[in-house]
Amino acid sequence: MESVFAVEKLTTPLEEREDIVTVKGLNKWFGDLHVLKNVNLSVKQGEVVVVLGPSGSGKSTFIRTLNALEEFQDGKIIVDGINLTNDLRNIEEIRKETGMVFQSFNLFPHMTILKNISLAPIWVRKWKKQKAEQIALELLERVGIPEQANKYPGQLSGGQQQRVAIARALAMRPKIMLFDEPTSALDPEMVKEVLDVMKRLAESGMTMLVVTHEMGFARQVADRIVLFDHGEIIESGSPEQIFDNPQHERTKLFLAQIL
Ligand code: ADP
Ligand code: MG
Repeated sequence: MESVFAVEKLTTPLEEREDIVTVKGLNKWFGDLHVLKNVNLSVKQGEVVVVLGPSGSGKSTFIRTLNALEEFQDGKIIVDGINLTNDLRNIEEIRKETGMVFQSFNLFPHMTILKNISLAPIWVRKWKKQKAEQIALELLERVGIPEQANKYPGQLSGGQQQRVAIARALAMRPKIMLFDEPTSALDPEMVKEVLDVMKRLAESGMTMLVVTHEMGFARQVADRIVLFDHGEIIESGSPEQIFDNPQHERTKLFLAQIL
């Protein structure tokens, strides 16, 4: 099937590709709480970066800052050549390029699945209703639930709703997908169907930043893993490096608790 995931799959090796996300010297405070401490991270086009770390270490704040859902006080964030400043136009541009999927699915309960997916493209991308619904249907097929198009979110299982949330984010044709613990709120038997969709999305060439505690997914799908602790990236490397040969004491401690 032709990719409606809207990204061009690059064949050049990862290390030769351009950065699509650059974060330099990022610092953020919530009042007195120094929540992100000199964070540096570059992400290549098509790269899958998994963000690990204990609860409260700043993972969500980091992901949200990339999408301008949180302000930051110091440092630089560049997403696909757009400098994330307080300029509202830049914020709007960056939000168009980044899709976000949260732990809670946040679907509009009073709208059909099809409407949930096609609403933003109609409003923001100015697509005709017919085109938007056509693409919504294709995306529902990609996430494996085309038969749910005319139902309401409350009629779907959690796993199905999260797949709709992914389809909805993809409908805006983002270049980068951000996931913040997308399977944490799901019953165990539904985790796999969501991870499978994310895995296929990764294989289609999408650039992804994924906060997750799913170590199997991290090992199998991540190009790189970064470990947050107390607002800092304490270690970063390939899944093999991180899981089989962690360098930092705190990485070992974290892995010992979770594995
Ligand atoms: P994680 O996602 O790794 O669990 P978070 O980014 O949610 O961590 O939180 C990092 C720290 O920032 C925590 O100490 C949390 O309590 C704090 N924090 C998160 N959001 C806010 C907020 N809106 N206001 C104040 N403190 C916050
Ligand atoms: Mg979090």
